[in-house]
Amino acid sequence: MGLMSKPKKTHIVTLSFDDGFKKSFYETAEIFESFKLRACLNVIAQGHSENFVPKVNGQPDTGLVSSPKGDFSDWNALKNRGHEVMAHTYDHTNLTTIPLEAAKRDIDRCVAEFEKNLMGFKAKDSVYNFAYNASNPELDAYALSKFLVVRSHGNTAVNPIPTKREPVRIGCWSHGPENCDEVFDATLNEFLASPGGWFVFNTHGLDGEGWGPMSSRYLRSLLSRLIRLEHVAVLPAGEVVLNLPK
Ligand SMILES: [Zn+2]
Repeated sequence: MGLMSKPKKTHIVTLSFDDGFKKSFYETAEIFESFKLRACLNVIAQGHSENFVPKVNGQPDTGLVSSPKGDFSDWNALKNRGHEVMAHTYDHTNLTTIPLEAAKRDIDRCVAEFEKNLMGFKAKDSVYNFAYNASNPELDAYALSKFLVVRSHGNTAVNPIPTKREPVRIGCWSHGPENCDEVFDATLNEFLASPGGWFVFNTHGLDGEGWGPMSSRYLRSLLSRLIRLEHVAVLPAGEVVLNLPK
């Protein structure tokens, strides 16, 4: 097919996987590979550390602690295989619950850890994914001063498709704590029936791992359906912006 006859992609679907569960992330990568797609994987700098005890409202975040996380050797291996591996915070702190200056230092620590440990990582070409998709305008602005794309909560899961390579905040939806297959499917179908845009949905592990996981069976059927739709592109978040003209 020549370049001129390429159908226009009016609908971009970004399905991102957060938290860095070792088992699920390798399996997710394999599933995307089987459709010649790149997975969108977001990992926590300190996720593999023994001292990693994330808390929600002061309580241990049990779903996040109980399953083994990978480390940067895993993330470099998956990046080498062509997948997009991006930052999902330094240690999964909800940055809206700590003072702004401390939150900024936390983002700086995240940048430093990823630039040190993940091959080829430069924040200005990368995506920052807030823990719990929790942020505020000050935090968004600070993260946007360091990163190309900043992902947080959205009133809608549909964002405008960017036309320039410049810093952009995207909103996403997720659903949990139970399996998200049905909610995802309904939300996606609404998007596919719309005139278009950039749909961003955030899940975690597969088959019961993590908060609001997707089933591997659904993921396979989803990707096999989406790659047949000529107007739809399934892309990791960074790639949507990174390849645009400045
Ligand atoms: Zn998370």
